[in-house]
Amino acid sequence: MIEIDGAYGEGGGQLVRTAAALAAVTGTAIRIVNVRAGRARPGLAPQHLAAVRVVAELCGARTEGLEPRAASFTFSPGAPRGGTFRYDVRTAGSVTLVLQAALPVLLAAPAASRVTVVGGTDVPQAPPADYFTQVLLRHLARMGARVAARVVRRGYFPRGGGEIVLDTVPGPLRAFELDAPGRLVAVEGAAHVAHLPHHIAERMRAAALHALGSAAASAWIDASVVEGEGAIGQGGAIVAWARTEASVLGAGRVAERGVRAEALGEAVGQALAADLASGAALDAHAADQMLVYLALAGGGSFTTREVSAHALTAMWLIEQFRPVRFACEPAGALTRVRVRSAGAGTP
Ligand code: ATP
Repeated sequence: MIEIDGAYGEGGGQLVRTAAALAAVTGTAIRIVNVRAGRARPGLAPQHLAAVRVVAELCGARTEGLEPRAASFTFSPGAPRGGTFRYDVRTAGSVTLVLQAALPVLLAAPAASRVTVVGGTDVPQAPPADYFTQVLLRHLARMGARVAARVVRRGYFPRGGGEIVLDTVPGPLRAFELDAPGRLVAVEGAAHVAHLPHHIAERMRAAALHALGSAAASAWIDASVVEGEGAIGQGGAIVAWARTEASVLGAGRVAERGVRAEALGEAVGQALAADLASGAALDAHAADQMLVYLALAGGGSFTTREVSAHALTAMWLIEQFRPVRFACEPAGALTRVRVRSAGAGTP
């Protein structure tokens, strides 16, 4: 059993989710201590608990101490298995973060799976649903993963109740070497509000297009209202993504009380424009979220504008489970992140 210090680096929830996923995929028993010690309210919150429980179910793990607010727990995995699973986070805990933990395990299972998760689909500090489907899953598709997601119902803070259904067919992952995104094909996006006036989505959209500058010439951002059973309660988000010849870069913001629609749209447009102007192959969020898959594929590289504390923490963690080494090197104004099998010669 290996002991993981949950206080390391970012010291947040991603370390816990990724550790459970890697334990399941590699068949390594773990004990995590100092869970989320870097956060104001440390210990397992409902979303992290949900993610670890889902991963435990996907691989028949035995756990000890897996309780709300636990500061430590053990996780002894069995073998990943396919099947049909449903999990309700019961709060607005992020559905996409639960799926982030489940995905590596589902791709390593011996059979296809359908996983339904109920909770918050578009909540702050997590990938909005459209970022998950349009950015993360596109990267995975490029690696050969067969994954489809359907947003059945949107759910927001504080009620949750949203639902995403994920279908996976396991298979090996192909590494990628991505130095540059290649020519811009199109910028696309979706600004949505639920049970709120259409003009709010329209204002998010207009502000994003304005901030995109010259990239707006090829941009098409939808503005829509989700009515009736399509969403629980009021909320919204804007996500824009740039499809390029070799990659996809995305940016997203979730609507929050007290934050103007224009500010959300502008932040998304500016982030995407800056990524496009920089020539980075991956946006900063994809850069931390794709590390696990590259490591499981056995190697690869990409450039990005910013290597976040999340990314550095993930690199440290992954190296404890897999015989790989990460390296970050300057590439002009960007950083190139490489992962190589440990023991392989330096490139
Ligand atoms: P904690 O409560 O401890 O902060 P957490 O599980 O809620 O834990 P983090 O550990 O901060 O959250 O991990 C958040 C994850 O969500 C990271 O993978 C990050 O890249 C991703 N993320 C956050 N905001 C966005 C966004 N706007 N678009 C895409 N991904 C995002």
